[in-house]
Amino acid sequence: MMITPLEKWIANRINVAGRLDLKRLYEYQLERFCETLANVKKNSRFYKRHLAEVVPSDIRDMGDIARLPLTTPDDIASDPEGLMCVSPREVGRIVTLGTSGTTGRPKRVFFTKEDQELTMDFFHHGMMTMTDAHDIVMICMPGGTEGSVGDLLQRGLARFGCKSIVYGPIKDYSHALDMIVNEKITCIVGIPAQILYIARMSENSTCRVTLKSVLLSADYVPASAASVIKNAWGAILYEHYGMTEMGLGGGVACDAGEGYHLREADLLFEVINPVSGLQVRAGEYGEVVFSTLTRQGMPLIRYRTGDRGRFLTERCPCGSSLQRLDRITGRLAAPVTLADGNRFSITQLDDALYKEPSIVTYAAELQTVNGRDCLRIIVKPASGPADLESLVQRIKMELPSLFKEERLLLHVEEGDVDYFTTGTLKRKIIDSRL
Ligand SMILES: [Zn+2]
Repeated sequence: MMITPLEKWIANRINVAGRLDLKRLYEYQLERFCETLANVKKNSRFYKRHLAEVVPSDIRDMGDIARLPLTTPDDIASDPEGLMCVSPREVGRIVTLGTSGTTGRPKRVFFTKEDQELTMDFFHHGMMTMTDAHDIVMICMPGGTEGSVGDLLQRGLARFGCKSIVYGPIKDYSHALDMIVNEKITCIVGIPAQILYIARMSENSTCRVTLKSVLLSADYVPASAASVIKNAWGAILYEHYGMTEMGLGGGVACDAGEGYHLREADLLFEVINPVSGLQVRAGEYGEVVFSTLTRQGMPLIRYRTGDRGRFLTERCPCGSSLQRLDRITGRLAAPVTLADGNRFSITQLDDALYKEPSIVTYAAELQTVNGRDCLRIIVKPASGPADLESLVQRIKMELPSLFKEERLLLHVEEGDVDYFTTGTLKRKIIDSRL
């Protein structure tokens, strides 16, 4: 098992010769954090007000950081320019994210050329975990424009001589499968729903395809994913954790496949109690929060991701002393409460529906039908018409407490679902009840 390449990369970034010194990393993070704090208090309209009481020189350790106010997705949505710390002409790329949070307004995130350079640097070293100069990577992520995730990934890969094709999100699965064969692809990067579908399709095709590795990013990865990838292609599954606000990249699994090593020279991660805002003890679950340490365009202080996670407390089997964030398995997004008091979340639906190989993905909405709660699920079938009746049975069987005595109605239909996200786990149950 190879030690995560992030260890050497981070040691270089913080000027440590030889093995990474965690004490030195911690000092580096604290210094960069205080610099960022001084920067946002001077240059960001939002943080001037939000952190008015905070004196950067008072921040001496993690405990002091943990007492600072949090930043929410709504803060970005309500006034994105208010978080900007550079003049508009220094912005190299603006990413607009779909509506989220309570404002219903799209979030805009700004990056400078230097910010994008740091993302490429992370992609370069992170991808060395699973690829080398002999590989040909198929990138099934958006990549049409300069500075998009596909573009930065391709440029990061080129830095160690690794070839890649920016294929984009898959629309025609047969075409994508031909591409894998014809271009002698050895590694695929994409979102779970699409890659797992094409893996199953490949397994059933007469043409045997072997890949070295697969990197899944940007959404919930079902527990069964590793075996699907292994059976179809003999490939090893790696997971990436990131969201646009993190600068697209946040952390990546090593050969041990247990949690993500993090981009710690650029980001400081915490896990907090979502109610009290205080840090939880290492190993306990809470909400993942991060601060940017090197970001110029739109630095963020203690940004709430809404993702449920925890730090792993044991040293990684790969031999690295870097900490690991456990696999993100769900959103903290408030579960919906039904008329009968029962509560459930998108994660439970994910577990029930992503086991079903006949569908690619789904969307869920709660409605009121004849005065009763009704869960409407729109499924995008893999091919041909979906067997809706057996899906209904399956969902009811997987979630018996929700549907017993018909307290919650269930309606499943087929439709087109727009499901490509560049963040993590952005899907949610849409509550449209009267
Ligand atoms: Zn490791």
